[in-house]
Amino acid sequence: MSFFYKIAVLGAGGVGKSDLVLRFTQDRFEDNWDPTIEDQYTTTFELDGFAVRLEILDTAGQEDFSHLLDIYLQEREAYLLVYSLTDASTLEKVCSIATFIFNTRGANTPIIFVGNKSDLEKEICIEKGAVSAYIESFKYAACYETSAKFNTNVKEAFYQLVRLLWKRNKER
Ligand code: GDP
Ligand code: MG
Repeated sequence: MSFFYKIAVLGAGGVGKSDLVLRFTQDRFEDNWDPTIEDQYTTTFELDGFAVRLEILDTAGQEDFSHLLDIYLQEREAYLLVYSLTDASTLEKVCSIATFIFNTRGANTPIIFVGNKSDLEKEICIEKGAVSAYIESFKYAACYETSAKFNTNVKEAFYQLVRLLWKRNKER
């Protein structure tokens, strides 16, 4: 049995969306990745004994325009919402995207909240639990603190999104 899902990675510019996707799909990290690049990556892996293929849309951040965000959302069924643990304004952006998703797609949408750059310990200004209210409002949500740079929790975050998709699909 195999599974194919289309997901999107959303969040403010500079939080590490592209590096998370690069790390997950190619085990690479770039210090100077072009912030305007929006691309789609396909990757396959085995998870819990099943073959999984993911098509991942790495967005560039112009989704301030809600009609554009709407288009991203319609074509994808689950989301990674990425903020930087070192920048509170990026958490606000993720919260507003989460609210938009909640209002337009509903509480059953699988979501992973990703606080990235956990390696920058001295610069972290966002506490654990900052997204807990959102986690509780969505039925299939979880949060991770990651470092794309040092490959901490990156796989775990993507894998958990797939497991949440399975759980949601089983229950509906
Ligand atoms: P995007 O705009 O969200 O796609 O962000 P990028 O992936 O282009 O990353 C923006 C900047 O943050 C780049 O300079 C990356 O090297 C850096 N970066 C990304 N992830 C991490 C991380 O986990 N730790 C650290 N220290 N820097 C990171
Ligand atoms: Mg990018």
